[in-house]
Order: sequence, then C-alpha cells, then structure tokens
Amino acid sequence: MGREGTAATRVAGVVPRGGWRPKLWALRGDRTGSGPITEAECTTCHDGSGPAEDGRGPALWCLAHAQETGHTGFRRIRTDFFRASCDGAGAQAAGG
Ligand SMILES: [Zn+2]
Repeated sequence: MGREGTAATRVAGVVPRGGWRPKLWALRGDRTGSGPITEAECTTCHDGSGPAEDGRGPALWCLAHAQETGHTGFRRIRTDFFRASCDGAGAQAAGG
C-alpha cells in the first residue's frame, strides 16, 4: 500500500501566496530624534529622576536624593531608539 503522509506533512510548511515576497527591513539607531535617554531610579523607594538626554541630570538627582533620603541604591536606565526602515535593495552592511 502507498503512503498517504505526504499531503499532511506539506501543510506544515506555509508557502507565501504567489508573488508575495518579504521586504527587506533593517533596524538602525534612530538619530532623527533625541539621542539615548538616561534615567535614574531609586531602588529603595522607586522615585525617579525623570528622563534626560544628558546623563548628568540623573546623576545629580541621585546625589540629591541620597542626601535627602539616605537611600543609596540606584538603577540607571538607558533607552536607545531604533528605527526600522524598508530599503528593499538588499542587505546593507552596517557601519560607515
Ligand atoms: Zn529613594
């Protein structure tokens, strides 16, 4: 008797419908807006410095907060922004 498994196994491999091709998307650092955002948070009371583009503001906030409250543990949160773009022209080597 012949095997009847082929049809069932083919279903697993989903093939895009005719003509559809995935576009090439690339992820790069977003320099159109602000730079990296730095924020500090107290690990004791979870009070925060608020976001700043300059790391000095949060650092000064930590010192002031330590002086006011005696809390000495802080967490620094750095946020970087990325932007996805669709070139469609093939893979581009990053850098340069
Ligand atoms: Zn605190």
